[in-house]
Amino acid sequence: MNELDQHRYFFDSGIRFQCRRCGACCTGAPGVIRVSDEEAVAIADFLSLPVQQAIDTLLYPWENGYSVREDGDGRCLFYEEGCRIYPVRPRQCRTFPFWTAILRSEARWDSIRRHCPGIGKGRLFAKHEILDILNS
Ligand code: SF4
Repeated sequence: MNELDQHRYFFDSGIRFQCRRCGACCTGAPGVIRVSDEEAVAIADFLSLPVQQAIDTLLYPWENGYSVREDGDGRCLFYEEGCRIYPVRPRQCRTFPFWTAILRSEARWDSIRRHCPGIGKGRLFAKHEILDILNS
């Protein structure tokens, strides 16, 4: 057991979560969705696009990789009545809502919970699983 496991968190009893694919987190306020080189290739392959074309039209450079382009209203370009790339969505999307920025305070968690109908539903993620996601 490491030091983090012994620390007390508001999610010590675990958190239930199952994405309802409502799109609330894919639309609305603009934000950065990190995409690695490997993820860019997987997205291009999934959409049957040349990698460079996918990068030029759907992504933009961000730090060591890319971020996803958005419409003017903040909607992810991959969101059209559902995520068009769900099986190969970036890690940042796959790990929502178990992000350090969200779990660092219960107040922040509560504000996200009000907008995500998947929180509190579905299977229980144990504390150790949540910490593994945060540390991965
Ligand atoms: S807001 Fe929650 S339930 Fe809706 S798509 Fe995002 S993660 Fe899934």
